[in-house]
Amino acid sequence: MEIDWKNLPFGYIKTDYNVRTYYRNGKWGSLELSSSEHVDIHIAATALHYGQQAFEGLKAFMGKDGKIRLFRWEENAKRMQNSARGILMAEVPTELFKKAIYKVVRMNKRFVPPYGSGASLYIRPLLIGSGAQVGVKPADEYLFLVFVTPVGPYFKEGFKPVNMLLTKEFDRAAPQGTGKYKVGGNYAASLTSMKKAHDEGYANVLYLDSKEKKYIDECGPANFFGIKDNTYITPKSDSILPSITNMSLITLAEDMGLKTERRKVEEEELSTFEEVGACGTAAVITPIKTIVDDATGKAFNYGDEPGVVSTKLYNKLLAIQTGDEPDKYGWIDIVE
Ligand SMILES: *Cc1c(COP(=O)(O)O)cnc(C)c1O
Repeated sequence: MEIDWKNLPFGYIKTDYNVRTYYRNGKWGSLELSSSEHVDIHIAATALHYGQQAFEGLKAFMGKDGKIRLFRWEENAKRMQNSARGILMAEVPTELFKKAIYKVVRMNKRFVPPYGSGASLYIRPLLIGSGAQVGVKPADEYLFLVFVTPVGPYFKEGFKPVNMLLTKEFDRAAPQGTGKYKVGGNYAASLTSMKKAHDEGYANVLYLDSKEKKYIDECGPANFFGIKDNTYITPKSDSILPSITNMSLITLAEDMGLKTERRKVEEEELSTFEEVGACGTAAVITPIKTIVDDATGKAFNYGDEPGVVSTKLYNKLLAIQTGDEPDKYGWIDIVE
């Protein structure tokens, strides 16, 4: 099979292997290598009925030196443990998480896109309640699996600003709910609003806090940030998923001499930002051109081209991930 690396979609392509392990009788079993794209699952599994599942997403990059680099995988391991605690699932120990992602990357080396193609190998760890329950309670068996798939850049048009729909009609997560965990339920809750945004020509949805409808919260499946007065500002909220990209951009911004703030951001403050964007593993940074409030019709405009600071941050993070620039932070691990 020949893969057209330059024209890869951000979608699923079958690879050679995935890895799996089951938690039974209070302990994790051995890591199995599988070439099947399917799982055999009990019809009463809690993942199917009560949404007991969490996932992660990270990327492996091929460097100019031919080495495969992982970016901050330990943070993904920690976050998945936090998600597991949040919805009462068995936690995947960091060592097992590491073994699984290293193995699945090694076994699918031929699917790591070449350096310079703009593509990468997306790694998707998944943890689900596989044990049967009919009453609402946590499962006593879990399945942890990791598959990989080569992906092209998230936006075909490249690093170009998009339009966002600020919604007062829909909520994604409640303040004391599961917004801070990477669980599928939050995504199910976001589908209707996302469809509305897409249908109206927007790239995604910008959510407000669901209690007061006053503060900026999550930006679709990404975190939000704004730049003004040489400061990187990102919302603080209990219903936001702690993005590893955002955390890394904060560090880079500080090293570039910017001030950084994690605090509540009111909708009105949008009119004061010089640049705004969304950040996450899929696109690193998605610059935002316009934000339109679906209740008032009010539009906040940031220009047709990416801002200077966003561009600098984007290039810097990507250069570290691909190995073009040295990693002085200890964020990169090589898969031998
Ligand atoms: C995964 C995710 C993000 C981005 O997190 P990264 O670690 O940067 O990829 C942001 N928001 C939500 C809701 C997510 O699920």
